[in-house]
Amino acid sequence: MSKKRNLLGLISCDVCGFEDAEVAESGSGFAYIVCDECNKQTFCRSKHCDHKLRSRMRPLASGTPRPAPKPAPESKPKPTDKQPEIKPDERSDDDSIFD
Ligand SMILES: [Zn+2]
Repeated sequence: MSKKRNLLGLISCDVCGFEDAEVAESGSGFAYIVCDECNKQTFCRSKHCDHKLRSRMRPLASGTPRPAPKPAPESKPKPTDKQPEIKPDERSDDDSIFD
């Protein structure tokens, strides 16, 4: 039942006032309006009409806000408590004195 339309954007229907009537591109390359509410269809038959319709519609791309890029992950500060360096016991060198 549902034909795949080459959807270009959305426009308010001038018949029933439906805000999201679809603007699609026909096989001839001209834009046309299809209202899913009242089934109105408006076909452009000239480049001028096509240009007017495309300039008035709400393009799909701008209708979907892109999610803001995520901020960089927090860099956790490294724990600063240093372990005290273990000093080796001072060895008293046993100078064995040979007689
Ligand atoms: Zn309508």
